[in-house]
Amino acid sequence: MLKHQAFFHFFGSLNDFLSDEKKGQSFVYNFKGIASVKNLFEAIGVPHPEIRKITVNNRKKDFIYKVKDNDLIKLCPFNYGINKFFLSLLSIFASIKIKFIIDVHLGKLGKYLKLCGFDVLYNWKWDDDEIIKLASSQNRIILTHDIGLLKNKKVIKGYWIRSQYPDEQIIEVIERYHLLSKIKPFKRCLHCNNILIKIPKSKIKDKIPLMIYRKYKLFFFCLKCNKIYWRGSHYYNMKKFIKRLKIKY
Ligand SMILES: [Zn+2]
Repeated sequence: MLKHQAFFHFFGSLNDFLSDEKKGQSFVYNFKGIASVKNLFEAIGVPHPEIRKITVNNRKKDFIYKVKDNDLIKLCPFNYGINKFFLSLLSIFASIKIKFIIDVHLGKLGKYLKLCGFDVLYNWKWDDDEIIKLASSQNRIILTHDIGLLKNKKVIKGYWIRSQYPDEQIIEVIERYHLLSKIKPFKRCLHCNNILIKIPKSKIKDKIPLMIYRKYKLFFFCLKCNKIYWRGSHYYNMKKFIKRLKIKY
């Protein structure tokens, strides 16, 4: 089989997938036979859902482009080269219908996203195939720590969570998908992901402790799983967290 070489250069956050000697610079990659650009950048370590733009010898190409000897391939991630002002515009126009599905290791991130009002599916029993199937049938973005899962050819939308810490992970997701202006606490049930409704406290008097009934005014109810929520300390912690986020941007 014929040996070939191509030059690769990854920009911005795509460098998170590379070893130190490859970060931020062009490097040679050797390969055999016929290969698509997707085959090669995934062999180098970068999953396709993280790629927004591919140019080969300064011409825009797609994933199926067959790489030729000595091609210079440049790859950019989402949000690369976009200034702060344009990012804030993207936040205004970001879809409120954005939906996520998260892998088994990111339960706390899922809870934080639901606290912010976002549509998130999570079940610790799901394997990769089930996650991919649900993501594709319901047009959901996969959030995962598993690069291998994102390299699956059936995955269309996804993001590799870099941080190990949930309070940093949620910032990653908010930045990547421009969600800051879409945060709405107490919109979604933390238990079943259903939309919450406001409910008069008189209707739930016998379902909550008397102390809670007397202390709080606003209550929310999940029609699917019957859970009741009120604006207790976790709500104010969340408000403080959102305020910190807004100051940062
Ligand atoms: Zn519920």
